[in-house]
Amino acid sequence: MNSYNVTLIPGDGIGPEISEATVKVLEATGVKFNWDVQEAGQEVYEKEGTPLPERVIESIKKNRVAIKGPVTTPVGKGFRSVNVTLRQSLDLYACLRPCRSFKGARTRYEDIDIVVVRENTEDLYAGIEFQKGSDEALGLIRYVEDKTGRKIREDSGISIKPISVYGTERIVRFAFEYARKNGRRKVTAVHKANIMKFSDGLFLEVARAVAEDYKDIEFEDRIIDNMCMQLVQKPELYDVLVLPNLYGDIVSDLGAGLIGGLGLAPGANIGDEIAVFEPTHGSAPKYKGLNKVNPFAMMLSGVMMLRHLGEMEAASRLEQVIAEIIEEGKYVTYDMKPTPDDPTAVGTSEVADEIARRLKEG
Ligand code: NAD
Repeated sequence: MNSYNVTLIPGDGIGPEISEATVKVLEATGVKFNWDVQEAGQEVYEKEGTPLPERVIESIKKNRVAIKGPVTTPVGKGFRSVNVTLRQSLDLYACLRPCRSFKGARTRYEDIDIVVVRENTEDLYAGIEFQKGSDEALGLIRYVEDKTGRKIREDSGISIKPISVYGTERIVRFAFEYARKNGRRKVTAVHKANIMKFSDGLFLEVARAVAEDYKDIEFEDRIIDNMCMQLVQKPELYDVLVLPNLYGDIVSDLGAGLIGGLGLAPGANIGDEIAVFEPTHGSAPKYKGLNKVNPFAMMLSGVMMLRHLGEMEAASRLEQVIAEIIEEGKYVTYDMKPTPDDPTAVGTSEVADEIARRLKEG
């Protein structure tokens, strides 16, 4: 039987626990993997001075497929986000985050089926920033005043928002191709083109042009603030959403909220040749090592990985068992119980054991 070489980045915080649980259920499908385990994050930074050693990137480039737990990003100081660096250095330009309801999950909504396609390399997330008071920030402030006559306060920090034709075209194409391959009916481009005419305006203009090549799929656009309201009021109207990086980040969490929380929201970062699968949520440091958090988001990222590898049958079986467990509501973690202190909640590893047992029993 075919055995897949896959880079496994356990991450930090709750990452190692949910990674272990995910590996267990992926292996229980019968699909064979050679895991190339690679560490990244705070501990590696303390030992090696970088949170993302070159060998991690090399491993992903070689295997072309990776699955990753969350990695903590220090706020305001320390190293740059490992997650952002990984996406940029491997040019994983599309972040795919399906938000699908599971029966039995605690949420105000039913039958949600939205796919968020987030641009992953540009926008305010590009990391082009100028610290308040730095020579660069002051120089930029003078430059802007010189060229435009507009004043920026001297005590400002500045983040740059680049949005290109190239970056927009490929993400919108990705969204339409995804819609076509997956039998979706509509793509909605989300922006704030009325205010940011040269960045979001460009995004919208390019999206409209790309839509011309996909006449079989409906196309529309929404302004981001209105989109947020509409998603809360009538999510059933939406199908595939395509967004610049920052709005995509925010709307992904909104989508997770619609389906019952971050514990259920999987994701993938995809480039032309490489795909890295990871949950939408972060490293939830306060739960580290407690065997408490929900492993479903990472397991469902594993389901996406199985499909990417062409293991459709294994993917459907794993997804089906997860759906069953959620519907029964017995072998689930605290966040899926009626109250967080419900004594019947099980731990991360018990969820994995039960899923693996059912998969093996067939
Ligand atoms: P978070 O997603 O870690 O946590 C938000 C809330 O959701 C917390 O209350 C947390 O306890 C809960 N939660 C998260 N995952 C859960 C799970 N599997 N089961 C049950 N509850 C869960 O977001 P945060 O607190 O903003 O970020 C923590 C760290 O994670 C930060 O350093 C951030 O930069 C990083 N982060 C990493 C990634 C990534 O690796 N891709 C993504 C987002 C955030």
